[in-house]
Amino acid sequence: MEVCSSSSPPIRAGTAMAPAGQKKGVLERLDAGEVVIGDGGFVFALEKRGYVKAGPWTPEAAAEHPEAVRQLHREFLRAGANVMQTFTFYASDDKLDNRGNTQRFTGQQINEAACDLAREVASEGDALVAGGVSQTPSYLSCKSEQDVKAIFKKQLDVFVQKNVDFLIAEYFEHVEEAEWAVQVLKTTGKPVAATLCIGPEGDLNRVSPGDCAVRLVKAGAQIVGINCHFDPETCVKTVKLMKEGVEKAGLKAHYMSQPLAYHTPDCNRQGFIDLPEFPFSLEPRILTRWDMQKYAREAYNAGIRYIGGCCGFEPYHIRALSEELAAERGFLPAGSEKHGNWGSGLDMHTKPWVRARARRDYWEKLKPASGRPLCPSMSTPDGWGITKGHADLMQQKEATSQEQLKVLFNKADKNQ
Ligand SMILES: [Zn+2]
Repeated sequence: MEVCSSSSPPIRAGTAMAPAGQKKGVLERLDAGEVVIGDGGFVFALEKRGYVKAGPWTPEAAAEHPEAVRQLHREFLRAGANVMQTFTFYASDDKLDNRGNTQRFTGQQINEAACDLAREVASEGDALVAGGVSQTPSYLSCKSEQDVKAIFKKQLDVFVQKNVDFLIAEYFEHVEEAEWAVQVLKTTGKPVAATLCIGPEGDLNRVSPGDCAVRLVKAGAQIVGINCHFDPETCVKTVKLMKEGVEKAGLKAHYMSQPLAYHTPDCNRQGFIDLPEFPFSLEPRILTRWDMQKYAREAYNAGIRYIGGCCGFEPYHIRALSEELAAERGFLPAGSEKHGNWGSGLDMHTKPWVRARARRDYWEKLKPASGRPLCPSMSTPDGWGITKGHADLMQQKEATSQEQLKVLFNKADKNQ
C-alpha cells in the first residue's frame, strides 16, 4: 500500500537487507563513500522508560530488563540505523562498583547480555554490532595507565568472545584516556572508532579538537569524531576542526558525529552537564525532527559519513536523519511507512488548517514555542571548572553522605 503522498521521493520504504554473513563492514561502507546511520542514546531513552537510574547511569538493564533494551534496538533499526551499539556505556567493572548497580550484576554478565541483544536485532536487518567502551572513574581518580587499560581490556574480552563487528571508544572528556582506550581496542585488529565529548574549545585539559583528532588517529582509530555533551550544530563544528587537524597533519580518517538531541547554545567547555536543567528538565531544548534533518544535511556537507545521535535521541530523530539522506542511501527506512515526507501525511487530516501544514516550507520555517511564559531561552551554566586531579572528582564506592552533600549544596549556592 502506498502510504506516503505524491510529494514523497520515489524511494521504497524498507530496511535494505544483506544475506546473513555477507554484510559489508563499517570501513568498507565508509571507504565506498556510503552513509552509516548510527543509533541513539540508550541511557537517556531507557531512563525515561524506567529502566536506568539517572546519577550512576549504568546499563544493568541489558541483564535486568533485556526486553526493554531489545525493543529500543528494534526501534532504531526500524528508523534506519546501520549500527546497533552494545548497551555497555559505563559497563566497566570500576563504574559498576562505583554506585548504582544495586542488583549486583557482574560486568561480564552485563557486557555479554548487551552483545547478545545487539546481535539479535542487528541480524534482523542491515546493521552491524559495535562494542562500546567509555570513560572510567579510575581515570578520574588518577589511577595508572596500566590500571585504566586493564579495565578496558575486561570489556574487550567479552566483545572479542561475542565477535562484535567493530569497536567504539566514546564519551571521553580527556583525550589521554581515549588514546589509552584506542590502544587497547586496536589489539583485536577490528576497526576502531573514537569519539570525544568535547566542544570547539577542546578537551578538559585544553587540548584542541584538531590535536585530539591527530592523537586518536595516531593511536590507531580509523574513525574519529564527537559524541554527546553538545548540540548537533556544535558537534559538527567541532568535527570540522578535527578534520582540519587530521588533514593538516597529512593523516587520513573517517568522521563521525553522535550529538545530543538538545539545543545547547549557552554551554561552556563542560557541555550540557553544566546546564541547570541537566538532567531532569531538558525537555524544552529537544530538537524537532526538522532540526534533525538540518543536522543530517550539515553533517553530510561537512564530510561526516557516520551520522548518529546520543542523549535525547529517540527513534524518530534517527528516522529523520534517514529521511534527509534517503536519496544518498537509496532507500527510506521501514519506519517511514508511517511518516509522510515533510508532513505530507497531514493531507489526510480532518481539519483544513492542519491540512494546510502538509508542506515542507511550513515545517522548515516554523519556530516552535516553548509554551512557558517568562521562561528564558538561555540559562547560566554552572562553571565549577574542575577536572581530573581535583579532590572533588575523586570517585568513591559508598553513597554520598548527607554531610558531603551539604558541602556541595553550599558550594553550589555560593557559585550562583
Ligand atoms: Zn550522551
